[in-house]
Amino acid sequence: MTDFTMQKDADGVAVITWDVPGKSMNVLSLDGAAELDALIDEALADDAVKGIVITSGKKDFAAGMDLNVIAAMKDGGAQAVFDGIMGLHQALRKIELAGMDPKTKKGGKPIASALPGTALGIGLELPLATHRIFAAENPKAKIGLPEIMVGIFPGGGGTTRLVRKLGAMGAAPFLLEGKLSDPARAKAAGLIDEVAADPVAAARAWVLQAGDADLVKPWDAKGYKMPGGEPYHPAGFMTFLGASAMVHGKTLGVYPAAKALLSAVYEGAMVPFDTALKIEARWFTNVLMNPSSTAMIRSLFINKEALEKGANRPEAPDQRVRKLGILGAGMMGAGIAYVSAMAGIEVVLIDAAQDAADRGKAHSAGLLDKAISRRKATEEKKAEVLARITATTDYAALDGCDLVVEAVFEDPKVKAEVTARAEAAISADAIFATNTSTLPISDLARASSRPDQFVGIHFFSPVDKMALVEIIKGKRTGPRAVAKALDFVRQIRKTPIVVNDARFFYANRCIIPYINEGIRMVAEGVSPTLVENAAKLMGMPLGPLQLVDETSIDLGVKIAKATRAALGDTYPDDAVDAVIFRLADLGRLGRKAKAGFYDYDEGARRQGLWPGLATEWPEADQQPDLTELQHRLMFAQSLEAVRALQEGVLEDIREGDVGAILGWGFAPWTGGPFGWLDMLGAARAVEIAEGLARKLGPRFAAPQLLKDMAAKGESFYGRVSTGKQAA
Ligand code: NAD
Repeated sequence: MTDFTMQKDADGVAVITWDVPGKSMNVLSLDGAAELDALIDEALADDAVKGIVITSGKKDFAAGMDLNVIAAMKDGGAQAVFDGIMGLHQALRKIELAGMDPKTKKGGKPIASALPGTALGIGLELPLATHRIFAAENPKAKIGLPEIMVGIFPGGGGTTRLVRKLGAMGAAPFLLEGKLSDPARAKAAGLIDEVAADPVAAARAWVLQAGDADLVKPWDAKGYKMPGGEPYHPAGFMTFLGASAMVHGKTLGVYPAAKALLSAVYEGAMVPFDTALKIEARWFTNVLMNPSSTAMIRSLFINKEALEKGANRPEAPDQRVRKLGILGAGMMGAGIAYVSAMAGIEVVLIDAAQDAADRGKAHSAGLLDKAISRRKATEEKKAEVLARITATTDYAALDGCDLVVEAVFEDPKVKAEVTARAEAAISADAIFATNTSTLPISDLARASSRPDQFVGIHFFSPVDKMALVEIIKGKRTGPRAVAKALDFVRQIRKTPIVVNDARFFYANRCIIPYINEGIRMVAEGVSPTLVENAAKLMGMPLGPLQLVDETSIDLGVKIAKATRAALGDTYPDDAVDAVIFRLADLGRLGRKAKAGFYDYDEGARRQGLWPGLATEWPEADQQPDLTELQHRLMFAQSLEAVRALQEGVLEDIREGDVGAILGWGFAPWTGGPFGWLDMLGAARAVEIAEGLARKLGPRFAAPQLLKDMAAKGESFYGRVSTGKQAA
């Protein structure tokens, strides 16, 4: 396998082309890095070579480091990781110094990079080591260092180089937030040097005329001062102090990568460049060896991608959707129409009245107008997308639809009626899907004349923002319907999980106990501030009280009533109902009513917890231990996820973990509930659960599956590591 090849031309330019065989995107492996290093050695030693251009044989430059390689490297332990990273640093430093005399800084060979498209992670760290970066005029290209998004940080010299290039303040959005830019913006920010129609030609011309001084990086020149000041410079001091506070405020200390990144930047800023690289490598190793980065890479990168590529897709011919029917142009139907039309699918959007259908279509226009105002779309794009949506009341317009998604009122009778009407208008092989969030798919399928072609496709709100789609198999749902749903989700670039039919499916099943546990605490007299902070300090993006305000208190009341009706005497949530029914009576229905657990201003911006909570549910003098509250909030969700697995609602823990993070924001640093329970270990998890159960009741009883695992010393990912669920 050859990832890099070199061609030398008559002018003395050696062009090194990165083109990993069999992949659509370049990723760097350790073998690839060694190949590149050997080619650099050869070019530097060859007198006929005057300059070097590094480019890509693909439409993009590179997607980054092969994260599977990182996962494998970790098996060798911390020393192996550190040695591997230092090897990479040496190779990149060789490019940067380019054979120049260490004293005079003369006699080096210019090395430029030419990026035809996207350049991410090591795909930008490598160019940052070259002397000049040229990017193609390609507005679709994304340039940046997104490592922080999967729980690591740029460890291929990107952290050290970018901070020295832009200063700590300038580099912060790229390093700490993983901000990506198109080439024009990347140039404006100083990430790259030039944007050119033909970057290879421009790079080639540049290396042929570059002089010795062009090759010396600012940090290798005498008298270098870091832009914005070093940590003990008065200006730098403010930046570092502020950054530290800001990062802690945002991550609350649960993301090891953010803290390690800051440490690498701070410590590295006070020492010479090569020592800074070593410090970066140490912190990078530290983060890589942290179980959180393993879990995040596994769920947010490897398994998310596997699910998106159809890891659990049944065998069936291509089921891509050509024409989509949507029944109900309300909040969900309108959102589904938008994401589908954006993906190039022709949409028929039906509602009972024409003005309702038109309003549904107008939702797309509104989102596109917003995108235009942010320069993320054009008037042409808007016209093109809107032209794909037909808003109508006429079911005959469904003719030719190969998939219909129903999103009418949550009422079985209304759903049955529209199912029958739609099926009369579509061809015999079309698939029918329901977006219900609470009604069993198998029951709704009774209204269908072809239940094997009936499936649940459960979107989350707001549809344009939420990445997860839950596909639900009813008792009689056939494989083609599942394949159709998966191919559709892939078309609209969302992440699917496939689960079996049961009350609340998977995501809502786990999120309700989380919300309820928080509300229960308020009823017990726990300070609402403590409840919210306990959740946030565990890495939950929203505390349970904020979350229920967002989804609305009246929805909670509705679900509570329906659940009580279904469960009768065994209904366990009276304490929760006492709180939400009271809030509903007070008209505090959540953010939409500008009043809920929180107060809101006129623009529905959250202000603070409602002081009246303390009158309604007085706070106890003795507040409970923070850890116990955190255990309650985390176990409420995680034990439910285990029960879903035990009952076969969930078939694949990868889906359980990816779905939890994308569906309801389960503390991403854990990699998901199963990843988190693995970190604790089954035995410790059982011990905590049983302790909570003794104190608080059977809702915390450890599921048999977890007890069995504890007895056998098993972990969730260990149990399946030899099967199809391997990560
Ligand atoms: P909504 O009330 O905003 O929209 C429902 C739409 O269906 C309305 O426009 C209504 O006019 C239309 N409608 C009603 N009867 C109809 C009929 N006979 N023929 C054609 N159109 C009809 O509701 P929504 O929030 O969009 O929810 C729709 C479905 O999606 C429900 O099943 C709900 O459970 C589910 N869901 C909602 C959410 C959410 O967060 N709101 C999330 C996931 C799933």
